[in-house]
Amino acid sequence: MPDFQILDPRFNAFILHNAPIKRLASGFDWAEGPVWFGDHQALLFSDIPNDRIMRWSEGGLTTHRAPSNYANGHTRDLWGRLISCEHGLRRVTRTEWDGTVTVLADSYQGKPLNSPNDVVVSPDGAVWFTDPHYGIKTDYEGFMAPQKLPCSVYRLDPSGSLEAVITDMACPNGLCFSPDGTRLYVADTGRQFTDDPQHILVFDMVQGRPQGGRLFHKVDAGWSDGMRMDSEGNLWTSAGDGVHCIAPDGTVLGKILVPEVVSNLCFGGRARNRLFITATTSLYSIVLNRQGH
Ligand code: MG
Repeated sequence: MPDFQILDPRFNAFILHNAPIKRLASGFDWAEGPVWFGDHQALLFSDIPNDRIMRWSEGGLTTHRAPSNYANGHTRDLWGRLISCEHGLRRVTRTEWDGTVTVLADSYQGKPLNSPNDVVVSPDGAVWFTDPHYGIKTDYEGFMAPQKLPCSVYRLDPSGSLEAVITDMACPNGLCFSPDGTRLYVADTGRQFTDDPQHILVFDMVQGRPQGGRLFHKVDAGWSDGMRMDSEGNLWTSAGDGVHCIAPDGTVLGKILVPEVVSNLCFGGRARNRLFITATTSLYSIVLNRQGH
């Protein structure tokens, strides 16, 4: 099977035709939430159903944290600390440098969050996360629970105040900012079990808040879950057949074809040009001619 599908000639400059996709590790039940630690040349990612965070480096694969409270998406804050979404305890946490865990958010207006899914940090240091209901609708160890809040996108200010900033999406999931911080992209996976194509919405950032949400892209294979930006503002999103690269104007430039359904991805490596891809049971990587933002 070829590793690439070129849909726009511009994509030829984005890839290295002699750099194939590699399977780095396998044996997971649902791999998700990759985050790169350049200071350790290591990748952390979740194996959600097995309640563990894994650590991959060229030296091998180890279990980083178990139990993980069914952690899903991760990112790092402006100081490099690990920020995690936990389905099990329905919260967003920060792991301090000494290893202790600080709860950043677990409720809104007195009601428990649903199951924080994916998280990014904006240039002003705010933590933005999505809170769909998947973790309380999926029977991992009896976590089925009544939903108390709409599925929303939240912004946690560095002061600690939490604000629901997008409340009208079905199931907000992956999210990312454009490199200049003027746009926010959010995947909506709420319609994944219907015939309606999957949506990525784009919002303009106006005075630090998303406004004017509109359709950016409909994924034509499976659904868009996690996504990341390269340094030029091209969106790299997970999909059912691999990773799709979408230009800022919405043109699909090409695909990296992956033999398993992709959940999420992140850039890493010494030059930030290595794309790490979590896909169902496996972790993959591919070296690109583009750098992550
Ligand atoms: Mg997700």
